[in-house]
Amino acid sequence: MKHMLNHKLLKIRNLKKYYPVTAGLFSRHVGDIKAVDGVTFDISEKEIIGLVGESGCGKSTLGKTIPRLEEPTSGEILYKGTDVAKLDKKGLRELRREIQIIFQDPDASLDPRMTVGDSICEPLIIHNIGDEKKRMERVVELMEQVGLEATQANLYPHEFSGGQKQRIGIARALAMNPKLIIADEPVSALDVSIQAQILNLMMDIQERLGLAYLFIAHDLSVIKHMAHRIAVMYLGKIVELADKRETFDNPLHPYTEALLSAAPSFKSKDKDRILLRGDVPSPLNPPAGCHFHPRCHRVLPICNQQEPELAEISEGHFAACHLYKSL
Ligand code: ATP
Ligand code: SF4
Ligand code: MG
Repeated sequence: MKHMLNHKLLKIRNLKKYYPVTAGLFSRHVGDIKAVDGVTFDISEKEIIGLVGESGCGKSTLGKTIPRLEEPTSGEILYKGTDVAKLDKKGLRELRREIQIIFQDPDASLDPRMTVGDSICEPLIIHNIGDEKKRMERVVELMEQVGLEATQANLYPHEFSGGQKQRIGIARALAMNPKLIIADEPVSALDVSIQAQILNLMMDIQERLGLAYLFIAHDLSVIKHMAHRIAVMYLGKIVELADKRETFDNPLHPYTEALLSAAPSFKSKDKDRILLRGDVPSPLNPPAGCHFHPRCHRVLPICNQQEPELAEISEGHFAACHLYKSL
């Protein structure tokens, strides 16, 4: 599958989102949870970027800061060249038409008291699009696009299965003709048997409508078919970023190696399984030097002293690791 990934849709530069932590009677500022800690990458039009990493590494926070559902602490987000930080209310509304988020839990985006037809229609009403007839036509079109029957528009969310509810969530996200969908673990809550159906639907829609996705997942296997590039995140930072094939065939960062090794289907026969020891450390108090060093199976003496920068090791393949410094 060849894709023309030339037009940049989104540029993110050194993005940070810190949550202040306070203590004591006077709410003294004692530190920050560095949920996103200096992230830089681009998303091209029609590109699917898979964002992976363990729980708590900052994937959702990164996703939410892009349409400013969370205000960034610092850094730059440029959407089609426009600085998102400088948008006024109207500009922000426009931005949130073009950038939609699909959440893990489809119930979270559906009002249980509204029929699903009304739920899908709601963004059209909020943004004052079309008259009633046009909106109804659009709802029918959207339901069909996600594999639901138009006759189901009058039903309530509880009358649908988890997979169907996620289809409704997707239809709602598509209502505004977005350019970028941030899909935050959209299949994690679903039965394994349903996951593939929803992933296929999302791929199909992406191709048909020419959308870009930032597809967040815990697990590399979820995005194995879908992503064009993969960003691996660890404690608020991107530690490896490369084409999907490169990531799977030639992972550079030991954390990526460990994630691949943990997924049974990718375990290469001639390599021993790499065990990822311990949990992700707290982003409030990350380890010195390379944040991954206490868990790294290739740790060097320098690793607890100096933090490695994300550097381009070969064309388009970025990694933040001292192993590759002299290359
Ligand atoms: P998961 O895979 O479990 O969804 P994640 O990678 O999406 O995890 P985030 O939800 O982005 O991780 O959280 C990153 C860090 O920021 C965590 O330590 C989390 O506790 C913290 N965090 C997230 N939201 C807030 C908030 N509103 N206030 C304070 N801390 C927060
Ligand atoms: Fe491991 Fe050192 Fe590379 Fe960090 S910098 S991933 S500790 S080898
Ligand atoms: Mg999350």
